[in-house]
Amino acid sequence: MPSFSYRSGWADEGVQRFRKTARQFIRNEFAPQQARWQRQRRPDAAAWTAAGRAGLLLPDIPTEYGGGGGSFAHACVVLEELALAGVHFGCSLHGIVAHYLLAYGSEEQKRRWLPRMARGELVGAVALSEANAGSDLQGIRTAARRDADSYVVNGAKAFVTNGAHAGIICLAVKTDSRVPGMKGISLLIVEAPGLAGYRVGRTLEKVGMHAQDTCELFFDDVRVPAANLLGPAEGKGFAQIMEQAPYERLTVGVGAVAMIERALAVTTRHVKGRSAFNKQLIEFQNTRFKLAECKTEAHIGRVFLDDCIERFIAGELDDIATAMAKYWLTERQCRIVDACLQLHGGQGYLAESPIAGMWIDSRVQRICAGTSEIMKEMIGWSL
Ligand SMILES: Cc1cc2nc3c(=O)[nH]c(=O)nc-3n(C[C@H](O)[C@H](O)[C@H](O)COP(=O)(O)OP(=O)(O)OC[C@H]3O[C@@H](n4cnc5c(N)ncnc54)[C@H](O)[C@@H]3O)c2cc1C
Repeated sequence: MPSFSYRSGWADEGVQRFRKTARQFIRNEFAPQQARWQRQRRPDAAAWTAAGRAGLLLPDIPTEYGGGGGSFAHACVVLEELALAGVHFGCSLHGIVAHYLLAYGSEEQKRRWLPRMARGELVGAVALSEANAGSDLQGIRTAARRDADSYVVNGAKAFVTNGAHAGIICLAVKTDSRVPGMKGISLLIVEAPGLAGYRVGRTLEKVGMHAQDTCELFFDDVRVPAANLLGPAEGKGFAQIMEQAPYERLTVGVGAVAMIERALAVTTRHVKGRSAFNKQLIEFQNTRFKLAECKTEAHIGRVFLDDCIERFIAGELDDIATAMAKYWLTERQCRIVDACLQLHGGQGYLAESPIAGMWIDSRVQRICAGTSEIMKEMIGWSL
């Protein structure tokens, strides 16, 4: 595993201590379960409460709401340690729901939901995308009609990470179908299990990331208390999604750099341990040059990411820099992991090899949380 000889400026002593705890828990408790979770296409429900007890679920939410009271640095540590251990667990999306609540929830909403989320009793999911609306969220059709003190929700969501165990869903709906586009969109917090008309559909069969479930959700005249609207008024949902997107995009970048560092470590070990033509693979100039290129790009990525993390913690990171990080780091991730697989030869194509797992899992990074093309559009608008 990478030694982190390069010390990130945001990782102070407290963060390093937290890293030790997170690393120990993830390697001892989660890594041995990974193969089974992959087969069952989701983690055990009990994994959520175990992660809650270990303090890994909402490390960057204030303690008054049950969180760890840390900063974004603590959330980064959990994501890095998961990626370094090759473990899939949807705590990133869970944390994003918590940040929606922290940013826009009423005091009553925060106190009702955040402590249970921190303990892992309520699993969070973000349901924005639909079968016909992903990049273009203005096209969502799921509708919420106000009826007395409830909203009546009808529609379907696709690609919902953590959908299988979701206890609390941040749901994008059209509250005003007369207003076209973004203006009629609102966010509702739905405590889903047990609601009449709510149904978890099939777990989507992805090419990778098997230990993390991605589901369809169906809403058929589901009544949600009007008090579960997020924010002071209807129609604020699109702006809220745009405001929270940088957090999610940066977490994707964090996972990308950690996987790059793992791929390099795994591949360096492999090329030192295997021989061809009476030489170790690392003795071939091509091997050293490929790894030299990868290591240089990994270092550039790490420095760029660390700068973004520090500026994010300081509240100074702009949306364009976040889009650049999400785009560039995930594109490099795919390129570097592919180069590393090539250096493994046939062993790299075996499903059991760690580099093959990384190769498959890295692909989605350029799609989820805003595709590379959408990131480039955003960067382009700033020119
Ligand atoms: C594993 C996984 C987990 C996910 N988890 C969640 C989740 O938890 N919650 C959730 O809400 N969603 C989730 N998603 C959905 C994800 O956010 C969308 O897949 C993503 O935003 C892309 O949308 P789309 O799939 O509809 O693709 P489309 O929008 O149909 O895009 C198709 C192609 O067209 C390109 N394109 C679209 N618009 C433009 C444009 N203006 N300019 C140039 N090119 C363009 C895209 O870049 C892409 O290459 C998940 C997806 C995956 C694969």
